Amino acid sequence: MNTCKYCGDNEAIENSHIIPSFICRWVKETSPTNVLRSSINPNVRQQDGEKEPLLCKQCEGEFSTYERAFKKVFSQMANYRKDFPNEIKFTKETLSCITSIAWRVLAGQYYFPKDHLYTRDEVDRFPEFLDKMKEQISSGVQNYTVHFIPCTKEVIKKVGLPQIDFSYYERSFGAEPRIWDDWARFIIYIKIPFGIFVVELVKNNHDIWTGTKLSYENPFLIVNVEKVPPVIGYQVSHFFGEFLKSLSKLTEKQKELMRKDINNFKGDCGSFKTNRKKWD
Ligand SMILES: [Zn+2]
Repeated sequence: MNTCKYCGDNEAIENSHIIPSFICRWVKETSPTNVLRSSINPNVRQQDGEKEPLLCKQCEGEFSTYERAFKKVFSQMANYRKDFPNEIKFTKETLSCITSIAWRVLAGQYYFPKDHLYTRDEVDRFPEFLDKMKEQISSGVQNYTVHFIPCTKEVIKKVGLPQIDFSYYERSFGAEPRIWDDWARFIIYIKIPFGIFVVELVKNNHDIWTGTKLSYENPFLIVNVEKVPPVIGYQVSHFFGEFLKSLSKLTEKQKELMRKDINNFKGDCGSFKTNRKKWD
């Protein structure tokens, strides 16, 4: 049996989503094909995002309370009918949701490693970070800074992130822990449609962030976002590069299926709107 990795008491009976399921659903519903494809295995049409047996029913219930709060923020950000809001109110619960995603990503790597990206010494320290994140999720103490980069055209240009396809910024989702040698920096990078969240587990004092720090005490003002460290640009380029690589792995049969779905789709959808955007 798998014990719940969060409470350590009950049986983990759920295949918990790493990225909340409402985000996967939004991507499907605003696309002409109604399926998801991952960069790792692009030829498989998926109905759902990545899952691991991490949580018991009770903890899953606790996390879903945070997800409901975060969903309100998400629907303001990822909305093809309205402009991106000038200010967003993040509550304690919405912040807990973001930290809980970071916890799930790191716990997934720790308990169910798929690729050995980390050294033994690094992995041995993961529980320490997981515990402190857990404290942050349940009590709202700010052990780690959470940064937010709204992925609007204006912000991307202002902070100098790569001007790649808008589909990366507006439609992709995924998350990963990223660690630099000798603990120079350790972040959990969380990409969702229209936004990037960065949980700074080990801060690097040379990194300059301006206007990106999330707090539940004050509303987040988009106009204040001015600077993000260059490493974030590298992350964006890295993930976009993986996406391009995955496109080259698509078989002719899958490409044909995609073309068919797109041609059969009548009317407009979010995905088409994103594809029409230009950096100018
Ligand atoms: Zn539990």
